[in-house]
Amino acid sequence: MPIDRSKWKEELKARLTSGVAASEVDIQAGWRDLVCDLLDRIDSLGVPYQIFEIKERYGGLQLHLETDVPSKAIEDLIEEAEYRSWRICEQCGGVGSETVSGEWMRTLCNPCFKMWDEESWRGRLTP
Ligand SMILES: [Zn+2]
Repeated sequence: MPIDRSKWKEELKARLTSGVAASEVDIQAGWRDLVCDLLDRIDSLGVPYQIFEIKERYGGLQLHLETDVPSKAIEDLIEEAEYRSWRICEQCGGVGSETVSGEWMRTLCNPCFKMWDEESWRGRLTP
């Protein structure tokens, strides 16, 4: 079953391995298609897997998934999606690049970066 993208976050959360405290889905809507395409492709391989986390880390996508049997095909798909995330705005899905605000890094387009940068400075100035 392909992922229903109208409720992608719930669908991704439902796929997380239960009982693992650290498991989470922590990405914004701009990476929705990137991650859903990835999982739909992995599903089509028919190899059982468990997802531990899907998150943004230092500006890039990080997807932690394990299979009972090692699968080079799955590893390659994940690597490709993580690589592509460096060029996709995590907020809106437009063309993005690495941006920095204070100590934080994210992959964003220009308008989304400006909004995020202003918000994060405001957050730092008001206690
Ligand atoms: Zn954007």
